[in-house]
Amino acid sequence: MSAQWAQAWLRASAAVVHDRSTWLTELDAAIGDGDHGINLDRGFGLVVARLDAQEAQLLPAGVVLAEAGRVMLGSVGGASGALYGRALARAGAAIPEPEAGAGEVPPLEVIVRAFEAAVEAIAALGRSGPGDKTMLDALVPALGALRASAGTGTNLGEALARAAQAAEAGLEATRPLVARRGRASYLGERSAGHLDPGAASSALLVRALAETCPAAERVSAG
Ligand code: ADP
Ligand code: MG
Repeated sequence: MSAQWAQAWLRASAAVVHDRSTWLTELDAAIGDGDHGINLDRGFGLVVARLDAQEAQLLPAGVVLAEAGRVMLGSVGGASGALYGRALARAGAAIPEPEAGAGEVPPLEVIVRAFEAAVEAIAALGRSGPGDKTMLDALVPALGALRASAGTGTNLGEALARAAQAAEAGLEATRPLVARRGRASYLGERSAGHLDPGAASSALLVRALAETCPAAERVSAG
């Protein structure tokens, strides 16, 4: 996985989180404390500042992701900072150093392993699982789609597009759920009828991945 690719994804994520920050915060205002967009915008802003400061293009992708995770963990308040921070750190650690040149795009199997590491990290730290009305309700279906694609030899661009669709469907499916983890769980039944803000940000991040990775693939192929 090229650092160029990991950087492109982090930068695209920062941009979309910034653009949709008000939406994310409004979702959190309905069933939490109204800071989710603010938390993530701040975190990804610091991640981009770190990318600008380090010569990220010279670093392996796993190192870039792990460093992004440390920046999030160290700077972002709220449950999501700790959860996304740990997820990025674990995903980075799961990516082997590229054997070929820096333009290399990872095989789907490597993406699957990194995604698994991220999901496992969130589930372990959050003591959460699918159906709890959290970010995992977007991420676990996305992982399922990636695994299915890996099993059928689907190409990376198509696999990531399907994962993004699965995350978006997972987000929509959080609406009727009663939250069992995080601040929204304090509302009990009143948390039903709203999208989960963390599932919303996760769907944005997976969509950003789908939009960045095929582009990197075209660059390295061309
Ligand atoms: P906080 O709830 O501390 O204000 P944020 O508003 O930034 O943090 O993030 C809230 C989101 O974090 C929730 O919508 C949910 O998706 C996710 N979240 C909270 N607790 C957990 C948990 N235990 N496991 C998984 N995700 C969680
Ligand atoms: Mg909040």
